[in-house]
Amino acid sequence: MRTIPIRASRSYEVLIGPGLLGEAGERLAQKFGSCRAMMVSDDRVNSLYGDALEATLRESGIEAERFVFPHGEESKTLSSYSALLEAMCAAKLTRKDLLIALGGGVTGDLGGFAAATYRRGIPYVQLPTTLLAAVDSSVGGKTAVDLAGGKNQVGAFCQPSLVLCDTDTLDTLPQEERRAGCAEVVKYGLLGSEALFEALEKNPAAAWSEDTIAACVEMKRRYVEEDEFDTGARQFLNLGHTFGHAAELLSGYSLLHGEAVAMGMAAITRSAAEAGICSRETLGRLIALLEACGLPTALPYPAEDLARAAGTDKKALGKSITLVVPEAVGRCRLETVPVSDLLLWLQRGGAK
Ligand code: NAD
Ligand code: MG
Repeated sequence: MRTIPIRASRSYEVLIGPGLLGEAGERLAQKFGSCRAMMVSDDRVNSLYGDALEATLRESGIEAERFVFPHGEESKTLSSYSALLEAMCAAKLTRKDLLIALGGGVTGDLGGFAAATYRRGIPYVQLPTTLLAAVDSSVGGKTAVDLAGGKNQVGAFCQPSLVLCDTDTLDTLPQEERRAGCAEVVKYGLLGSEALFEALEKNPAAAWSEDTIAACVEMKRRYVEEDEFDTGARQFLNLGHTFGHAAELLSGYSLLHGEAVAMGMAAITRSAAEAGICSRETLGRLIALLEACGLPTALPYPAEDLARAAGTDKKALGKSITLVVPEAVGRCRLETVPVSDLLLWLQRGGAK
């Protein structure tokens, strides 16, 4: 098992390894003493792991209630959020009690935001069950729900009190979710670790190992500790996301996030290669790795539509936007460009 301490506005540990779900009750009782809990999960994850979690909590004297919502991004809304708050209120949770988010990024974002705001904030624990949640969303304290006008438009920075990543739970992920999760792992390699990138080139299945997950969390830790509130260095984690979010939006969210990030990473790297910022070899290695992971590498939307969508991304500040541009495998730079240049970046990136 691996333990990664995070020192942010709240300090906490990320534990990564097999069997952690079954130990959750004991670990939580140790950390929080006598308390009650609201378990939050989508229907799929609840049917797979809800009973096991509730059993270990009860064995350790933690009485738990469940809030279960229909799986999918469509549930990351203000109405789910308010239903969850009402359930917490009906259960008479106090600030001594806790919320446990058991699931993927949707569950973590929704549950985290409810915990951040219920009675002005109660502690919460993340139990990530997707690769994306393990390497990204469960760590770092960004919580949010979507508005009709866009993703993650209302939320709060609020760090969890503990992250228990039980790697056994990843075994039940459906095939398309497995592929999508790999995109974020490739992102960490391209962003800051040639060693990680090489390990994936040798064997894409390495994305699922405890070592790889720990390496990704360790990288995220550094960005979060340096820039918890996302005004500087944390923007590096957006690699592939500016164009990826635009593609996600244009697909009406039928693309999985990881698929969109793969397309976005390929496009920004292609653009960087065209501009002489990175080599053709870097581009070739990225495309080959994404393909080996079964991920798409071309943006299937018109460049003008993508530019318009990217220009309204929440990362765009007024008339300029900061792009994360690869210089080599394991090294990227931030480049702030006028929104009016996005079309050029996209066209060089292969969008028609
Ligand atoms: P998700 O939570 O919807 O999970 C994907 C699907 O996998 C769901 O249908 C779920 O039921 C199923 N599932 C989850 N775990 C499973 C398991 N172990 N076995 C079988 N099925 C399982 O989506 P996601 O990809 O985990 O997360 C995407 C969300 O994360 C987006 O809303 C995104 O905005 C957010 N996100 C947040 C941050 C952050 O820093 N807060 C970072 C990245 C992404
Ligand atoms: Mg992402």
